[in-house]
Amino acid sequence: MITGLFLISKDFKGYHEKHSQRIPHGLRCDEQTPRRDGVKTYIYFIGAGPGDPELITVKGKAVIEKADLIIYAGSLVNPEILRWRKPGAVVLNSAEMDLQEIVSAMMEAHAKKKITARVHTGDPAIYGAIGEQMEMLEEAGIVYDVIPGVSSFLGAAAALKKELTIPDGTQTIILTRQGGRTKTPEREKLSSLAAHQSSLVLFLSVGMAKRVQEELLTAYPPETPFAVVVKATWKDQKIFRGKLKDLSKTVARRRIKKTALIFLGKFLESRGERSKLYDKDFSHEFRKKRKRKYIGRG
Ligand code: SAH
Repeated sequence: MITGLFLISKDFKGYHEKHSQRIPHGLRCDEQTPRRDGVKTYIYFIGAGPGDPELITVKGKAVIEKADLIIYAGSLVNPEILRWRKPGAVVLNSAEMDLQEIVSAMMEAHAKKKITARVHTGDPAIYGAIGEQMEMLEEAGIVYDVIPGVSSFLGAAAALKKELTIPDGTQTIILTRQGGRTKTPEREKLSSLAAHQSSLVLFLSVGMAKRVQEELLTAYPPETPFAVVVKATWKDQKIFRGKLKDLSKTVARRRIKKTALIFLGKFLESRGERSKLYDKDFSHEFRKKRKRKYIGRG
């Protein structure tokens, strides 16, 4: 076994040396990519990631470091990211502002050629209410850029240490929410989506766990595993697991009220499935099927 391991690592070293030469050293990765149209951007929508401040992108952090105005979603964004601000930067909490106030603040800074970091939780494209802000800026002829972030569902999947797509299991992930004060279209009812039996992730729904459970039980077996991840990647992250039939009981007993995602699907307990990607008998663009004599040698 030791011989086998040694040969593999020697082989890897050779591979690494050959390929790493193609990547130049010394490039700065914190430089903003210039816009192709040459227009200077002063407003950046940034995904802060799910909670752990180190999960923001290098690009997002670089904008926070140079921003004159930071408007962050105080209800969910970890305030720790503010420690990267420069002295004198103005910080506003969007949880206390309405849409017009937020956009006016950005426009005012833009008029003075000041940089704004508009910081959203997770990725701004998912339940971020970013669309309406972008539209208002566009109507005023103001350019902006969007820097993506790690969505909370990906932070939670990492916490669960699970793959959401399972070879021969499901190749589909449904990200949705239970309709409440914000309605969801009739065709996207949980009971209809449940018919796919895919991996399911529910945002903004833990406060309606009873309804969620009822609707999902119309299609998923009662024994389907769930996991509720509370404050994924934060220091006080918690994970609760069970079977669908006990979902609302668990949420009530644990007093889970917010900042939680509900995961449902067989992926939570799948084992043993193997992908084609790393199958030694499967060739693809970057790896030809080959025989490696040393693999498996003791
Ligand atoms: N844009 C965000 C989602 C904003 S909607 C993203 O990409 O993650 C807010 C909802 O996201 C919360 O009600 C909760 O369901 C979920 N959420 C956000 N951060 C979370 C976290 N760290 N852990 C668990 N759920 C989280």
